[in-house]
Amino acid sequence: MKIHEYQAKELFRKHNVPVPEGSVAFSVDEAKAVAEKLGAYPVVVKAQIHAGGRGKGGGVKVAKDASEFEKYAKEILGMTLVTKQTGPEGKLVKKLLIEQGLNIAKELYLSVLPDRATAKMVIMASEEGGMDIEEVAEKTPEKIIKVYIDPLLGIQPYHLREAAFGLNIPAPAMKQFNAMLKNLYNMAVSCDCSMIEINPLVLTAEDNVIALDAKVDFDSNALYRHKDIVEYRDLDEEDPNEVEASKFDLNYIHLGSGNVGNMVNGAGLAMATMDCIKLAGGNPINFLDVGGGASAEQIENGFRILQSDDSVKAILINIFGGILRCDRLANGVVQAAEKVGLKVPVIIRMEGTNLEEGKKILAESGLELINAADLKDAAEKLKAAIQ
Ligand code: ADP
Ligand code: MG
Repeated sequence: MKIHEYQAKELFRKHNVPVPEGSVAFSVDEAKAVAEKLGAYPVVVKAQIHAGGRGKGGGVKVAKDASEFEKYAKEILGMTLVTKQTGPEGKLVKKLLIEQGLNIAKELYLSVLPDRATAKMVIMASEEGGMDIEEVAEKTPEKIIKVYIDPLLGIQPYHLREAAFGLNIPAPAMKQFNAMLKNLYNMAVSCDCSMIEINPLVLTAEDNVIALDAKVDFDSNALYRHKDIVEYRDLDEEDPNEVEASKFDLNYIHLGSGNVGNMVNGAGLAMATMDCIKLAGGNPINFLDVGGGASAEQIENGFRILQSDDSVKAILINIFGGILRCDRLANGVVQAAEKVGLKVPVIIRMEGTNLEEGKKILAESGLELINAADLKDAAEKLKAAIQ
């Protein structure tokens, strides 16, 4: 689960990771009140959306006086911000973070995340901060340092020194940097973060170390033990179909652009099904995993969600009947189709427990559902449907 920068900074404050002074604003008037409270210019206006690269897209502006500030606040609030991470459709800006402008001496990159390959935590850091870290990783990987930490031992002073020396932290800022990094690491672990990224972490002219940007992502599987963090969830920033699907415990993943919706039981089957769709000349736009024991109600809702996407030109249902029996699936699909109607061709391939009963239910429904004998047949029928 992602959160906004202003929320991430609230968590940073709680964990004693220094951030600039400031606060969130939902209107231009509120923004002005925050700027007045800050009391001195420059003041920074920052669009709050769940995507990075805002600076380059015009979503972060430094105002040198009150009139410039008002202009920027009006400009950014309500704009559709397009960045590398939002996709071409962009995101509507509904809130701003208003912050004191800092006297930046140097911008660094710092992140903390679990590393799957080593089963450790890793601190990644670079002196090339404020830039596209993917580009640094590609062109000059030697400029990124990595410090691995055994989560059972926790962060030790030598880890801190390794990071600090690797970043050439000046002596007067060393103590602050070490305290900040230790607190940041402990926050990553205690909050079950799947990533904390600070780009840039700045050294100010006064030798202070401050997190200027904050991107925090949480492991969704651990959210049950962080009720306070779940409060930060912003449904405005999530795909509406994914939000809808999560209400029924369905795993729905939107994949961007495409023309074929698919319903499967199991993520592995989803991968195979998507290969099959590609082979048939289609493009999967999503996949909906109904899981092992889906009820007729879940299938009905899943089907409704798949059909609600106008780009979907055909639906492929590929179910391996194990725990989820074929007759139950067939009932779910028939119920759904009767309720919401069939908007696009629906091809069903199922196999496994109670297959004959399932087929009978589909055949007797009187609905125009396309039955496929096997996966190959399903691909051919899908090809015909999207042509
Ligand atoms: P994004 O990564 O989405 O572009 P950032 O928060 O990293 O947004 O801001 C982009 C750039 O704007 C920073 O690299 C920094 O140069 C400048 N900036 C952001 N906040 C401040 C601030 N409080 N004071 C001075 N400059 C800032
Ligand atoms: Mg940034």
